[in-house]
Amino acid sequence: MAIGSRAVSYANPACVKSVVVRSQSVPRWRALSSQSIARQQQQQNLTKTKKQKSSKCSNHSSTAAAQIHLLLSQFRQASATPLHRLRQLADAMTAEMHSGLMSEGGSEQLKMLPTYVENLPHGDEEGLFYAVDLGGTNFRVLRVQLGGKEKRIVKQEYQEVAIPPELMQGTSKELFDFIAKKLASFVAREGEGFEAHSGHVRELGFAFSFPVLQTSVKSGILVHWTKGFKINDAIGKDIVAAFEEAIGRKGDHIRVAALVNDTVGTLAGGRYWNEDTMLSVILGTGTNACYVERVDAVPKWRGAPPKSGEMIINMEWGNFRSPYLPRTFADEEVDIDSVNPGDQWFEKMISGMYLGEIVRCVLAKFAQEAALFGGPIISPKLLEPFSLGTPYVSKIHSDESADLTEVAKILEDVFEIRRTTFQERKIVHDICDIIAERGARLAAAGIVGILNKIGRFHGPTTTTNGSYLSSRRSKTVVAMDGGLYEHYTQYQVYMRAAIDEMLSETAAQSVVIELSKDGSGIGTALLAASHSQYHRF
Ligand code: ADP
Ligand code: MG
Repeated sequence: MAIGSRAVSYANPACVKSVVVRSQSVPRWRALSSQSIARQQQQQNLTKTKKQKSSKCSNHSSTAAAQIHLLLSQFRQASATPLHRLRQLADAMTAEMHSGLMSEGGSEQLKMLPTYVENLPHGDEEGLFYAVDLGGTNFRVLRVQLGGKEKRIVKQEYQEVAIPPELMQGTSKELFDFIAKKLASFVAREGEGFEAHSGHVRELGFAFSFPVLQTSVKSGILVHWTKGFKINDAIGKDIVAAFEEAIGRKGDHIRVAALVNDTVGTLAGGRYWNEDTMLSVILGTGTNACYVERVDAVPKWRGAPPKSGEMIINMEWGNFRSPYLPRTFADEEVDIDSVNPGDQWFEKMISGMYLGEIVRCVLAKFAQEAALFGGPIISPKLLEPFSLGTPYVSKIHSDESADLTEVAKILEDVFEIRRTTFQERKIVHDICDIIAERGARLAAAGIVGILNKIGRFHGPTTTTNGSYLSSRRSKTVVAMDGGLYEHYTQYQVYMRAAIDEMLSETAAQSVVIELSKDGSGIGTALLAASHSQYHRF
């Protein structure tokens, strides 16, 4: 096989010596390419001695090919997520949810944070509402005119603003003054089609996707910054108070009606369109989930019982872990080299930030241990952490060309590995497939764990034989948001297939996954509406 013949050319100095031709235009780690070796062999009309050596190489080559296939099959096995494993994981997720709801710190993994959001939008909300979404290097301001049950979203507008890098590490006042200023100028451009209720102060939802200890639906203490922000004086302070003070300094009259994270915004956006929306999942750079829980199932809740009897719980599920998670050497490597070793195991196996990095780790190991790309010199790019983004994984995965042209191009563009053989490209394709399928199936197990917890399905919750039985309601909608799910079609397909595998046919038919288009932005404005001080919905 081609892989083997190349690999052995490097592995066996006797083979290499006779045929190596170095070329200036070929990178060092490709200089010993077996293809060029093969070409040279033909052109130079090798002597009998050389042919004998070549025959030795060929024997060796099949050994190397066998070694790669052995590594691949071991990796496939270590990553496997058979049905019984998924069921164990779903059960473990459900059990951990119970523990996290029981008491503060009841689960070391799942925070199960009550969000103080008791009212999800119904669809009959009316009026003008704003949202500010701060969760990364950009923030968005958005306004939406709601027209009630019939007219729904009459008009919406948004503006995206980059946060100047110096403000990400400055003071709280500087950051919020900047945001308040942009908000004020956005509000000032409120034109035709938008109509604030006379006598009402404008209200906004604030989506703030950093770790916050919520103290009410419109207040919360910043625990720490992430994603490159470092504004020390904001830590331990009420983030809404800081924002409203800045709005006050601009002389504007607009108040924060709800402080939420993006998962909750997505749930609200989903519920607005479909009352069967019970949970939301983010599968983007990171991952998280939240869902509608009965407040009497939250023993740790000390506040007044919400009128609705329900509470949205932000699970922070990225930190789920279980001995049933099929972790491999690559997951260990990714974890150890991360900024938060030991944390977020689930996230590190299923989300967009990490899938590409897992693939890279596996390719690097195969290259080092079995000369996948014709070692022994490995492309430095292959050893560079995070050099392979997850969008490349989905591109590799969706390459259906007969000779995997796209895979060849990506290997060249990203890792500077040129002139790959079909077998090598096929191995790369297979590795992406294994890692994406595992991620999608694990996410599916998490979703089934939640469905199980909220009792959307009748029947035994044990999973020892058969499925999770039939549905009690006609539909349960999962509102989904995030670039990974949205753009990675095969991931969607694998996730859906795993959900269907875990549930009975009827139950599976009742679970609908709806991709929310800008769910969290509109959803946050909708939460301002459903928590309006002029609440009449
Ligand atoms: P965030 O999670 O930061 O709010 P998004 O929801 O837009 O942002 O998700 C961005 C993430 O989605 C990227 O980090 C990347 O991992 C993943 N992603 C984006 N495009 C693709 C794609 N074509 N294929 C696979 N994953 C993608
Ligand atoms: Mg997002």
